[in-house]
Amino acid sequence: MTKAPSVAGEVDSYCTKCKMDLNHRVVSMKATKPHQVMCLTCNTQHLYRKPASAAAASAARAPRAPRAAAGARPSRAPSAAKAKLEKERVDREVTWQKAIAGRAVSDFTAYRMSGVFEDGQLLKHKKFGDGVVLRIVDATKVEVLFQDQARTLAHSQPG
Ligand SMILES: [Zn+2]
Repeated sequence: MTKAPSVAGEVDSYCTKCKMDLNHRVVSMKATKPHQVMCLTCNTQHLYRKPASAAAASAARAPRAPRAAAGARPSRAPSAAKAKLEKERVDREVTWQKAIAGRAVSDFTAYRMSGVFEDGQLLKHKKFGDGVVLRIVDATKVEVLFQDQARTLAHSQPG
């Protein structure tokens, strides 16, 4: 327990000159509280001020206004399109993974423009890698899903 302050005794006070909590000598009292104090560091005499640490502690105990707005920013709108694209990308990759998972290398037909492909056929493209035919666009084009994206390729082409 700390001794009650008394004149000529020492007390912790915030020094307005040193700008920190320091030991002060009590110069005069007002009731049970120090009134004037003298900083033992800079010898400045000033009115007693509660140590800043004590003031901060009591401030921290004070109830704070709830920050309702925090974390509830309406930032979804601009990123919604991005999220949709990302979902499509993931869906595409899942589809692709399912299509090619566990397939033997021999199941993949080397892609050639002259080849004739059908729905769900697996093919291997020199540049794009493994793919699966998503749909036959028309007599000359097929849509093929590769790991990174779907591409329309030619088929049934002479040559
Ligand atoms: Zn001082």
